[in-house]
Amino acid sequence: MLVHFIKKTSVALSMGAMFLLGLSAHAAQIHAQCQDDDLTVVVLGSGGPELDDGRASTGYLIQEQGKARFLIDFGAGTSLNFERAGGRIEDLYALLFSHYHVDHSNDLPALIKASFFSSRSQDLPIYGPTGNHIIPSTSVFIERQFGQTGAYPYLSDFLSGDANFAIRPIDVNADLKHPQIFSKQINGFTVKAMPISHGLLPSLAWRIEKNGCSVVVSGDTSNQGHTLDALVKGSNIFIAHNAVPEHSHDNVATHLHMTPSEIGRIANLGTNSLVLSHFMKRSQDHHHTQNAIKTQYQGKLQFANDCDIYSVKTGDKIGQCL
Ligand SMILES: [Zn+2]
Repeated sequence: MLVHFIKKTSVALSMGAMFLLGLSAHAAQIHAQCQDDDLTVVVLGSGGPELDDGRASTGYLIQEQGKARFLIDFGAGTSLNFERAGGRIEDLYALLFSHYHVDHSNDLPALIKASFFSSRSQDLPIYGPTGNHIIPSTSVFIERQFGQTGAYPYLSDFLSGDANFAIRPIDVNADLKHPQIFSKQINGFTVKAMPISHGLLPSLAWRIEKNGCSVVVSGDTSNQGHTLDALVKGSNIFIAHNAVPEHSHDNVATHLHMTPSEIGRIANLGTNSLVLSHFMKRSQDHHHTQNAIKTQYQGKLQFANDCDIYSVKTGDKIGQCL
């Protein structure tokens, strides 16, 4: 309610008045720039790789007027929640992957097989990171699943173009030595990616923009080198992966993931709404997480659950697809 009021009256309000209303001037500016009521993001999976946490693994769906437009990651369990969210494969503009750990990519073959029973006729681009010596690039990863000598050769028509549509893998630079923002116009949206640090694994954070509105998904990252920072500034929603607690003694985990205070530092660079996701059992103490984040960031903070639906414009949860 407050945010709607701010939007209608922000032109007339002084910055001081905005602070008195409890909303930072920066957050109000970001909110006012967003001129689209039709964009929503659905958390298809708010968990990591664990199978005893009551959560699907990672995935997000960007919708426009309730229609599926972009998938960002598609881990185990997300295909069921895509269905619950009313997602239709025919409506998707592109798939975007942060990296190819199992918890971010495992439901992809289910989506490609299911598309056989859809009426999709448009080619489907799949954007994801370049590879290195420990993990294949997007194009090789897709070939190893759907190529004629891949794991699912019976689906190879989707790669060869002999099916009703073709999947088109596209490698996006994930080299941290050359961390440049990738930007692509796709059906009226601007899609951006930035290389991020996730141990030795080439990985990307993603930003989807339209009509002054934007959603950023951090991917899994320790944010060494701070490459994520530039992507988050001025975003309506920043979805950040909270896989480790603030005082973790697990050196491997902290090499791969951000601490809550680091998430707070990034959010404080300029987002209207911070949404935490990719929880693990070790990071399930939300009270401690919230306290650590608040040392750096005092804006809107929400803890995602599977099937939560958020308005991009307001950054608020507006429903559930379960
Ligand atoms: Zn993960």
